Amino acid sequence: MNVKNLQKGLKPSIIRELFEYSNTLKQKIGANNVYDFSIGNPYAPVPQTIKEEIGKIALSDKNHGYTSTCGDQESRQAIATFLNTTYGSIFKDSNIFLTCGAASALAISFNALLNENDEVILFVPFFPEYPTILSNLNVKIVLVNPDPKTMEPDLNDLKNKITSKTKLVIIDTPNNPSGVLYKEGTIKTISSILEEKQNEYGTSIYLLSDEPYRELIYSKNCYPFITNFYRNSIIAYSFSKVLSMAGDRIGYIAINPEADEAENFMYACVGASRTLGYVCAPTIFQKLIPHILGITSDFSIYKEGREILLDNLQNIGYQIICGEGAFYLLLKALEDDANKFSERAKTFNLIVVPTDPFGLKGYVRLSYALPIQTIKNSIKAFKDLYNSYGDKKWEISKICAF
Ligand code: PLP
Repeated sequence: MNVKNLQKGLKPSIIRELFEYSNTLKQKIGANNVYDFSIGNPYAPVPQTIKEEIGKIALSDKNHGYTSTCGDQESRQAIATFLNTTYGSIFKDSNIFLTCGAASALAISFNALLNENDEVILFVPFFPEYPTILSNLNVKIVLVNPDPKTMEPDLNDLKNKITSKTKLVIIDTPNNPSGVLYKEGTIKTISSILEEKQNEYGTSIYLLSDEPYRELIYSKNCYPFITNFYRNSIIAYSFSKVLSMAGDRIGYIAINPEADEAENFMYACVGASRTLGYVCAPTIFQKLIPHILGITSDFSIYKEGREILLDNLQNIGYQIICGEGAFYLLLKALEDDANKFSERAKTFNLIVVPTDPFGLKGYVRLSYALPIQTIKNSIKAFKDLYNSYGDKKWEISKICAF
């Protein structure tokens, strides 16, 4: 048995573990009595027109066979045109590679780009699957600390951590687990630091923007589209969250046509996808792409849930970091060890995820992709949890990222 993979399989992620625990608890005490903030499973309905379009596409025998490894040409062209019109980029179909969601976009990109002993920079807090996917590649993971108030990256720390071996920097905004949308100024500074270091070392440092939450923004702030700021940039996009199609497994990789070795990267993606056995993304959903670009689910349900949580949890006294997007927020644990806090929360039927696997200690993540009634019903449990700490809890001060 492959030891690394066996270990990964035997030790499921804490999110999955809590999700399974919650399902068992729901069977015991009834679903309405369990407040499960663990998993980021989108809850807003899939738009009706999209469901109908899937039905139409599925009816044709032409749409059930293999496509080329990098995906249906018309769909890749549609993505390039959409991105160019929306963000002023200059993609061609040949810069786009269709994937089974963002997870496979990440796995294919990492395998396409990285060699042994390369260094990969992750900004804390980071999506825990990055280290999991990277773990078979024998690369060195280097962590950059956040500014604890805003949860944006500490850019001085970034500057200090880049070496001649740095090959890849990963950003995820709006962020899982904090919801934080990086400011345009932050993206500009990251870009200029990377430019400077590339010149200093004579290397290519790629910036990969993981974007499953790109359109999931509740404020009026614009999304800082990465190719407008940095030449060696790669995008991993997914329709999972913005259209509530996480189970349909469709997304894409886009590389800036002006990036170093952009063409070779695409060939390497074909090779990586063969190595990983992806073959091609599901054809029905590839063919759906031209019909869904620019459409999103109705996010008002997340917005409402988010506001209810923010108001009530801050009123209770919790310290919260809540960005402008995704459907996650961070709650400061009321004791040093967030794992113990999460365990205690379970006794109130609250399922919250300690952020240790995200590289951040002392917080839990709440996913508010939940029915409004569940969120409303959970408030008493949060209050009881808070009160259960008596005078022993942290000194609370209100922190919000915007
Ligand atoms: N990247 C981030 C930051 C995520 O939060 C997720 C899913 O939760 C993924 C990637 C994977 O998404 P997908 O369902 O498209 O594979």
